[in-house]
Amino acid sequence: MQQNNGQWPAPGRIPTEGAFSAFSSPFITRFWGAITCFTLLLSHSCTGIRTEQYFPVTTLQAEKRPKISPSCNDWRAYLPDVAHPEYLPVRHLRVNFHILNSSDSSHNFRPPEARTYFKRLLEVANERLDTNVRNWRSPEGTAVLPRRYRYSLTSQPGDDGFYFHFDDSLYYFISQGKNQNNYRRTVIDRYAVGKDSIINIFVLVHPDDSIKSPTYRANSQGIALGTSLKMAGIFEKKEPPENFAGLLNHEIGHILNLSHAWVEDGCPDTDNHPNKCWDWSPDPPCRDQATNNMMDYNAYQIALTPCQIGRLHAVFANLKSPVRRCLMPVWCTRNPDKDLIIRDSVVWDGARDLEGNLTVAPGGSLRLECRLSLPAGGRITVQAGGRLWLDGARLHNACDLEWQGIFVEGNKTRRGEVFTLKTAVFENCPAGKPAKQQKTRGGG
Ligand SMILES: [Zn+2]
Repeated sequence: MQQNNGQWPAPGRIPTEGAFSAFSSPFITRFWGAITCFTLLLSHSCTGIRTEQYFPVTTLQAEKRPKISPSCNDWRAYLPDVAHPEYLPVRHLRVNFHILNSSDSSHNFRPPEARTYFKRLLEVANERLDTNVRNWRSPEGTAVLPRRYRYSLTSQPGDDGFYFHFDDSLYYFISQGKNQNNYRRTVIDRYAVGKDSIINIFVLVHPDDSIKSPTYRANSQGIALGTSLKMAGIFEKKEPPENFAGLLNHEIGHILNLSHAWVEDGCPDTDNHPNKCWDWSPDPPCRDQATNNMMDYNAYQIALTPCQIGRLHAVFANLKSPVRRCLMPVWCTRNPDKDLIIRDSVVWDGARDLEGNLTVAPGGSLRLECRLSLPAGGRITVQAGGRLWLDGARLHNACDLEWQGIFVEGNKTRRGEVFTLKTAVFENCPAGKPAKQQKTRGGG
């Protein structure tokens, strides 16, 4: 997200052609100013505020559906705005837990302790997601942004989201040697629940003979496989759940398209480094080389940089991403508590899935360049003195439910304005569309 305190459009993009307001229709203009309690006006008709639906400028020819710009997938378009974090709604990732054990029940947490332990682990992991700190290895001045995502334990009818499997052939995790199985998906294929819409977390153990080997490292480890992950070493280490929240966040970070931060990860605000310091120490080399990034190996795993946050939100917004299906679809229907009011000059150059109505208030400007989902029954209102710029946007309901469309308000002296800079696509909002425009699905 970017803020622009100047005027739009950018130089060279004067919105003469296609600039349109609902109030530019001759019929409305002729009667503009008359106080009347009937006519086409839809609401507030006795209060001096007039509201009319905005219809996009379209042609009757079957227009080719405009392509959404590739820049809509860029991580820079998904940076939370610290002044208005609500512009990037919080994402809720569904998770469940599978505890694998030997048939004699001796190799992992038993159900009651597992529930307590992993509920606490999830709580701590969420607390860390709610927090962010400066990434030690980022350039000076790099912003510390909220992460805007969390986990939600997800059950099925008749269960609580915890699954216990006693399976002597699948309870263990081997990360080295000839029996290495950490990359294998057999345990996932056999036991996953709702794999296409829930992140399945498998808790395994290192086998006894591996632990006894002097060369095997039976520490806490994890591996992300698609939208599932395996973790091992937790039961064996007998440490509190707080100690493994970083591991869980790290592995889910991989699922969310983040690479290790110490190598080239596509983020200019994470530097490449040897990743040799687990802890910071007052002496070199770990005085200067220690790291606290969630995607490095270290004792903290608490920091995410703006680029890392932007990258995972770009994945959440991508309609084709398997990760998106693991989100709670809180954007389908309207939550009035999540209504948004734009009072500043705002550009949304990335996709947004809104959970409430969107209002552009007097003095506010909003430019839409990418996909925007409105909740069922929701609407965009451009109040008198507010301006909305449609710049190649796709407006729809991402759950294929109906939303109401764009409404422009005016009073005796001022009107809301909608400008089309580049053809926008309107979907899922057929209500009230004039007959001549019903044939074109998008357009505008
Ligand atoms: Zn990793």
